[in-house]
Amino acid sequence: MAIRLPKAQLEDLHQRFATKFRRDGPNGCWIWTAATMHKGYGKISIGGSKPVIGKCKLISAHRVAWLLAHGVLPTRPIQVCHRCDNPPCVNPDHLFLGTQKENIADMIKKGRGSPPPPNLGTKLTAKKVQRILKTWWCGGVLKCDLAAQYGVSASMIGQIIQGSAWKHLPRPAGTPARSTR
Ligand SMILES: [Zn+2]
Repeated sequence: MAIRLPKAQLEDLHQRFATKFRRDGPNGCWIWTAATMHKGYGKISIGGSKPVIGKCKLISAHRVAWLLAHGVLPTRPIQVCHRCDNPPCVNPDHLFLGTQKENIADMIKKGRGSPPPPNLGTKLTAKKVQRILKTWWCGGVLKCDLAAQYGVSASMIGQIIQGSAWKHLPRPAGTPARSTR
């Protein structure tokens, strides 16, 4: 799956995008200066008449950077990640596509055999929760995106991220154990 936009919408997005960052040196990061979401990732409305992801028209700025540079934006499970580890950066040269498939598979294997926890929503599985965490910490999604994708409430997504739900699962590598956000 991938997102492509009509030419007029893409041009409008490009013009708005171009005014919302500053360049740190010739090969440096392009720092988003407009609205941000958790961890400092930028966000921007995709414009147009239809939401593109979940029920949302807001999309993270670094994913828009990829879309503008390449004309197409792959969707889950492909993620746009930063080489520079700088969440507000929207320099397309600092971005790469990645999946955490093997990593997730390994985590699930290690988590297998733990006792079933009480009071969990019925729609989620350990595998899905791992994907939610990985996607969240890679950045660029809103809780409502994940809620729509997985058919649960945004507050459930929040509890998973905070570590108050599904806390028996091992956290994916490179992600914090808990978040206060
Ligand atoms: Zn950068």
